[in-house]
Amino acid sequence: MSTAASASARFLVVLDVDSTLIHDEVIELLAEHAGSGELVADITSRAMRGELDFEQSLRERVATLRGLGDDVFGEVAERIRVTDGVPELVEAVHAAGGLVGVVSGGFHELVDGLAEGLGLDRWRANRLEVVGGVLTGVVDGAVVDAAAKEESLRSWAADAGVPLRRTVAIGDGANDLKMMGAAALSVAFCAKPAVRAKANLAVETRDLSQVLPLLGLRG
Ligand SMILES: [Mg+2]
Repeated sequence: MSTAASASARFLVVLDVDSTLIHDEVIELLAEHAGSGELVADITSRAMRGELDFEQSLRERVATLRGLGDDVFGEVAERIRVTDGVPELVEAVHAAGGLVGVVSGGFHELVDGLAEGLGLDRWRANRLEVVGGVLTGVVDGAVVDAAAKEESLRSWAADAGVPLRRTVAIGDGANDLKMMGAAALSVAFCAKPAVRAKANLAVETRDLSQVLPLLGLRG
């Protein structure tokens, strides 16, 4: 229960992770270790263009990771490149009384460290099942798909006392469209054409601080 004195956040910004918060698609980095990099990269691009069912395609991609040791998470974490402008975006949103969340069709095993390091307020992702230090190739629990991304935005907003009219969603792929549709303002970030076509605004430079003027937070 929140107390009567607890202040509501002023607004909420929710970002996708792969190819938005970071340059990389983590599933592809993991797959390179499993020798399935090319196959997985091909499935990922088709899924992000909206040509494949996200959940089914994720399960197919994760299946190729079976047998990898869980030390792969540390190795991949070192290769992840955070998109330019993320610290500036987080700092400016916080300074203006907002919250920053990320929701990912990727994996908690990598997103947790990123989110904590960047000082994010909320995050949600899939989990990879590990037994005896080895990946089983199975997603543990329900898959974070397009519907789960939208649900995360709605529930984080409700919990923080933020009306939907003060929410922003930023993404690049087809599985971001539902959360972008639920938010008051949707920003396509270096996005697939199908996503750009449906967003309120598009940023074409790989620098997330470019979103700040769109939010009236700089300029
Ligand atoms: Mg993405």
